[in-house]
Amino acid sequence: MSAAARAMARADELAGCSERAGEITRRYGTPELVAARELLEAWMLEAGLRTRVDRAGNLIGTLGAGERPAVVIGSHFDTVVDAGRYDGNLGILLGIGCAEELAGADPAHDLTVVAFCDEEGTRFPTAYFGSRAFLGAPLPDGALTDAEGATLAAGIDIAGNAAAEPGSGLPANAVAYLEAHIEQGPVLEAEGHPLGIVTAITGGAKLTVTLTGTAGHAGTVPMGLRRDAFSAAAEIALAVERLARDDGEAVATVGEVAVAPGAANVIPGRAAISIDLRHPDDERRGRLLGRVREIVADVAARRDVEAAVDVVHDERSVVCDPALGERMRRAARSIGLDPPSLASGAGHDAVVLSDHVPVAMLFVRCAGGISHNPAESVTEDDVAAALAVLTAVVRSAE
Ligand SMILES: [Zn+2]
Repeated sequence: MSAAARAMARADELAGCSERAGEITRRYGTPELVAARELLEAWMLEAGLRTRVDRAGNLIGTLGAGERPAVVIGSHFDTVVDAGRYDGNLGILLGIGCAEELAGADPAHDLTVVAFCDEEGTRFPTAYFGSRAFLGAPLPDGALTDAEGATLAAGIDIAGNAAAEPGSGLPANAVAYLEAHIEQGPVLEAEGHPLGIVTAITGGAKLTVTLTGTAGHAGTVPMGLRRDAFSAAAEIALAVERLARDDGEAVATVGEVAVAPGAANVIPGRAAISIDLRHPDDERRGRLLGRVREIVADVAARRDVEAAVDVVHDERSVVCDPALGERMRRAARSIGLDPPSLASGAGHDAVVLSDHVPVAMLFVRCAGGISHNPAESVTEDDVAAALAVLTAVVRSAE
């Protein structure tokens, strides 16, 4: 069996580790998460990696004696609810495949493969819990609870390794972090490319815009005398959509709307909308954010409603290391591919790693661009191509 075929078969086997039958749901701190990690650990040992589990529950496999510069390959093995089988898992399986391909070789780099225990934050209100803990950050507050009231501390009891040494799991001699991930978008498929080189992981801002007008009777207040908070919110939503479209690279989404009092015969006195605004270029995102504030102020003034803009968070973009990207591109060309450059609209563990080591990401074409869905699908040929690229980077000095 080829290493790519093995990775595909292993992804199928991992899919069996699920909290609910008939779907793939594997959240942090569950026995199923631990079962998946045990499978990964067995495959790592077969591939000749030395393994350990850290305090949070990340699985770390190493190849080499620490005398050569180390390449770290990783991704996450937790999932969203009713997930597909490749998001995250594929990146780990490719790391293990890389170790297998290098068996008996004399690679220029040591290899560390990391399986992060929680990237999705599906169960507890954490962000990048696994990769932050891998880098030695203190574990989040154990009193955090999931929707059922179970504590993170109880989850750590199940998934973590209390006996592990604290501190960063990043090798001192690490020179690169590589993450292969399904694209989660339709570009590679549309353009006929098996692989893409990620140039940047798009940062984003999340805002809440609250508009306050005057509630009133839907039958008695003439149109010209209304202060309708929802109509103002709707006008803002459409203007923000136009703003992102005109930019070409930005994406903007109004995904939450709350209207009060919320009755069919009452003019809305209050409306709140969320705005998720992303752009790979931080400066341009900052300018767009300024434009959003202007739009809100303009609409509010014209419609005589009060407006408040609250920036809930604003995360910077991460630029992937151009030299690492170039090395992956050369490796891809040597197997007859010409991967395009593209930005990642979704966040990944590479965002956290980028503060400590140069990072690069390789996207693998996925059918229909579908992710976070049981319909996630990749081909064995594309997986083989990704494996060849990663292996070449670990194998060669340049
Ligand atoms: Zn993922």
